[in-house]
Amino acid sequence: MALPGGLDRLHRVVSAVANRLAAPESVFRRLLSPVYGAALRLLARDTGIEVVVNGERFRIDPGVRAAVPSTYEPEVLRILRARLRPGACVVDVGANIGLWVLHAARLTAPAGRVIAFEPNPATAGVLRRHLRMNGFDARVVVETAALAAKPGTARLYGVAEAAGTSRLHEGNPEGARPASGVAVPVTTLDEYCAARALRPSLVLIDVEGLEGDVLEGATRTIGSNPELTVIVEMHPTLWGAGEEDRLRDLLGRLGRTARGISGQDDPLRSYGQVVLEPADGASGDEEQVMAETEKSQGSGAFPVSKTEGEWRAQLTPEQFAVLRQHATERPGSCALLHEKRPGTFKCAGCGQPLFVAHRKFESGTGWPSFFAPVEGSIGTTEDRSHFMVRTEVHCSRCGGHLGHVFPDGPPPTGLRYCINGVALEFEPAGDAISR
Ligand SMILES: [Zn+2]
Repeated sequence: MALPGGLDRLHRVVSAVANRLAAPESVFRRLLSPVYGAALRLLARDTGIEVVVNGERFRIDPGVRAAVPSTYEPEVLRILRARLRPGACVVDVGANIGLWVLHAARLTAPAGRVIAFEPNPATAGVLRRHLRMNGFDARVVVETAALAAKPGTARLYGVAEAAGTSRLHEGNPEGARPASGVAVPVTTLDEYCAARALRPSLVLIDVEGLEGDVLEGATRTIGSNPELTVIVEMHPTLWGAGEEDRLRDLLGRLGRTARGISGQDDPLRSYGQVVLEPADGASGDEEQVMAETEKSQGSGAFPVSKTEGEWRAQLTPEQFAVLRQHATERPGSCALLHEKRPGTFKCAGCGQPLFVAHRKFESGTGWPSFFAPVEGSIGTTEDRSHFMVRTEVHCSRCGGHLGHVFPDGPPPTGLRYCINGVALEFEPAGDAISR
């Protein structure tokens, strides 16, 4: 274990020296950064580099470090922390590179078990490396398979990238359409658990719109165990006709009700995380207490925090849809796209300055684009909606959703903050001075 510690020290020393020599945005740093990244990846292939996610230290593959946010779905983490006990069994369906798997393995230590389903072979490979790097490989099983309503095989598309856009049955409509997929094995949660006499305590499901299929194949596992916590990332915008009715019918058969935990209006109509609670049980008390404790301690909540009704009263319907519901405005629809005067772009939710005019550039996308925000004004989370892993950006003061950041921007940062204009309010430079 001498090498990882040594590498972390080396990485810290190199970063410190680089900070002395040149600003992070300098051309010098920008030219050397990919070279250094490649060297780091080669050196750290087996040991990884250390990152802090949700306050927990984990070792990860340096090749995916850009896809790992410092804060990741706090509403889900709260439930994991409240309900997972040492020795528990967790099933993660659509485990991706394993951020929840790492958290679950640590929360159930020393004897807990985690089963991670990740059908993309490249992604499953990264996940297995992460388990070895963190010493969890003895307690976590990675199944390179998909879960659905019936066992068999299915084609998985978009498998070239390890942390990315793969999807069952068809390609990602928002990405380049892959010519062909790979065949992946499919099982059902019921069949898998029955064959191994598994009785999980918690199941996480994130399958990009195919939620109904996974639940259909899990009716015995969920229906027979009211103690089982089920957390589903619902993607109603990706559902076909009749899918909402199918989900309501399924929940009735499972004896569960859907409780949205992402602040969404309707857990079966808006995108977000949902807990399937036993229909007759009083649940959610534990994490309610934890949420209130966190609020009173001032952690986990944004400095500006309002109820949904207060936000609706303050914002226009378009602003509410983007800032509070993660909608995306139509490209080219916002006048701020063409704003070229000197000045400041502020959060339409709370007024915090987010971007300055001289960091704006014309990206050709139809959305206002910036290569850097005002320092400290932006927070990020991993966004796995629409079959992609993207980095979501939000206002650090009110949590309002702004857009996404991509690594294909211009110098000096190489970043492209792709922002919904409706989430911003522009204040020309002269205004601030004359007031
Ligand atoms: Zn704000």
